[in-house]
Amino acid sequence: MPDESIPILLRDAFGVEGRISRLPGENENYLVESADLRRFVVKIGTNFEARSLALEKEVVRLVAVGTDLRVPSFVMTRTGHVHESLDDGRRAVLLEFIDGDEWGSVGEPSRELCEELGQTLARVAFALAGLEAGDDVSARPWDLTLAGQHRGDIVLVADPAQRRLLEAAFHVHSGVLGRLAALPSGFIHGDANDENVLVESGRVVGLIDFGDCLYNPLVCELAIALSYIMQRSSRPFEAAARVVKAYRSERELTTDELDVLFPLVLGRLAVTVTMCAKRRRIDPDRSSWFASEETAWALLKDLEKVSPTEGSERLRGGGERVRGDQGATPERLTEKRRQLINPALSLAYEEPLKIVRGRGQYLYDHRGRPFLDLVNNVCHVGHCHPRVVEAGQRQMAKLNTNTRYLYDGLTDYAERLTATLPDGLDTCFFVNSGSEANELALRLARAHTGRRDVLVVDGAYHGHTSTLIAISPYKFKGPGGDGRPEDWVHIVPVADGYRGRHKGQGRDAGMAYAAEVGAVIERMSRPPAAFISESLLSCGGQVIPPAGYFEEALKLVRRSGGLVILDEVQVGFARVGESFWAFETFGVVPDVVVMGKPIGNGHPLAAVVTRREIAASFDNGMEFFATFGGNPVSCAIGMAVLDVIEDERLQQHAHEIGKRFKTGLQSLMSRHEVIGDVRGLGLFLGVELVHDRNTLVPAAALANHLVNRLKERGILLSTDGPLGNVIKIKPPMVLSGEDVDMVVRSLSDALSELGC
Ligand code: PMP
Repeated sequence: MPDESIPILLRDAFGVEGRISRLPGENENYLVESADLRRFVVKIGTNFEARSLALEKEVVRLVAVGTDLRVPSFVMTRTGHVHESLDDGRRAVLLEFIDGDEWGSVGEPSRELCEELGQTLARVAFALAGLEAGDDVSARPWDLTLAGQHRGDIVLVADPAQRRLLEAAFHVHSGVLGRLAALPSGFIHGDANDENVLVESGRVVGLIDFGDCLYNPLVCELAIALSYIMQRSSRPFEAAARVVKAYRSERELTTDELDVLFPLVLGRLAVTVTMCAKRRRIDPDRSSWFASEETAWALLKDLEKVSPTEGSERLRGGGERVRGDQGATPERLTEKRRQLINPALSLAYEEPLKIVRGRGQYLYDHRGRPFLDLVNNVCHVGHCHPRVVEAGQRQMAKLNTNTRYLYDGLTDYAERLTATLPDGLDTCFFVNSGSEANELALRLARAHTGRRDVLVVDGAYHGHTSTLIAISPYKFKGPGGDGRPEDWVHIVPVADGYRGRHKGQGRDAGMAYAAEVGAVIERMSRPPAAFISESLLSCGGQVIPPAGYFEEALKLVRRSGGLVILDEVQVGFARVGESFWAFETFGVVPDVVVMGKPIGNGHPLAAVVTRREIAASFDNGMEFFATFGGNPVSCAIGMAVLDVIEDERLQQHAHEIGKRFKTGLQSLMSRHEVIGDVRGLGLFLGVELVHDRNTLVPAAALANHLVNRLKERGILLSTDGPLGNVIKIKPPMVLSGEDVDMVVRSLSDALSELGC
């Protein structure tokens, strides 16, 4: 029953008197029947803002003018306002009552109803086309472009199978988020569900409850309606395809709109059930909140096996193939590779992935399924970043030549790149791969010192050429290697604070590992030309050397007359968050820096930067020239990458998101014994799995299994380290906080499923 303030409010503010009864539905709405047989709806709420009410009023007016739908116009207060405030802070609005039945009450949606609905929604889009976006900042719990805001509430769902369904639905939805901003947008009703669309004699006659109207991609209107039609129909895709077809007969959808439709439907269903889980905690008896819960879950379950590509095709009503870039099946491609490609190359995952597109932090397979890429530190600023792509395309269309000619791009880029480095590191060489760069770095050190011997870190990988294999224990000690270092190669232990000779001693460990470098130098019969190390060890097991290590080790190397080469191929370009270069976090400066992978965001570019005097020693008459190195296209791309890192504040982002990630992973350690260690800096993280936290017996098979199970959940990871038990995390730097939380939840669920 309404409280007694409502009749008084109606009389005093709106001049209306009559019988008042509560209406069904999730909001506090009352039917008012006056003595002169007029009917109204009074809505009471706490969150009616004057600005959004004015907007809603305008939206209703435009729909009334632009369509033949019955819509609930606002009844103004006696003083000419759209709402009246109650003493307790709530607000009330009065609307004309609209005749008609909720379409949800008429059972299975008929063919005609589906068609009417599609046409109606398109007409609403046209009716609202003139309304500008404005700066509406009200909370938007149902905004489909912000569905991710509910993702964290997945934890409120107790059943692991249901949680998995939800993770998958949100995941597919988030895979299209990056495309929404470019879609046709305008005001939409925002909640064309089975209670808000009114029908009479099988025809759509009215639309009520404009309280969720908002500026959105227009296709969201359709997706929301489809999510309900599909819940209420025994043949969900058939009914939905009818709606879509009828919509398109009035307003054609672009290919992009059609592509995102199915993921948006999943997103809406996911929000529906997640909201239910949340609301159950507030008031489990308010049945109107849970009207769609059961059917939404059932539909989510039905759609579980439908890939985004198939879903999109079926919503188009069949007969219309979605994408032309599917190519051969994964099985056929695997077979062809067997015939044509070198066999010493393995494919990732038990069941290899066929990838057809990339965008941001996502890769998409041939079935349109998104995969969150936590492996690719090459596509640093995001797969196919539009600014990087554009820079390359523009330059490629204008000029590509080599470094024997003068062009601005080379020196502009060298200037920009060296500005990121400590003073003194001022002379650049541009090449095409990390291997080429490391080769050159060795040649520089040898030319400058007149020596040959090299100190390398155990477990390190520096590249695939003959010389680099010789300084990569990861390779020559690994499968197929002969296990023995060449006579000019001297191995120092990896400065691992988790396992190894000096584990767990903090700064003391750093000093102890550095002393081992000194001891190796002392045992050498000839002094070293160089010490080469990654600033953080990647293939070596995502190891962050302990404090003091580099400082002291570099002192000892320099005392012996050797140069210091730091390989930043994996860890450079702001990945570590705290600083732009990983070595800066240790307060050291190398003599030679080696850059690769992220430098060109996937374009084959690499660089060596050193001091001028070292480069001068190398300039002995033998010219250095690399055909493609530093070409105008590469320089334009390299420059665009630096621009994006700066403009999108990716260093700061890596710092913040990396911290969130590390904290999230660490929080799993109390629940999952198998996680022995979580370590990292910024977006360079490692999770080491062990069977026993005391003996540190490595859980390599489990790590591999886990990586494959997470792939099934749409997350790409890999294992590495000398024992194969470290899960490597080094994603594109545009990873979001929601992504991080999803990975942490999924990792936990997958580990629980495996009983660890
Ligand atoms: N250095 C490090 C640390 C690397 O990880 C790699 C490649 N994995 C390289 C050098 C070699 O780079 P590329 O494959 O571009 O030759």
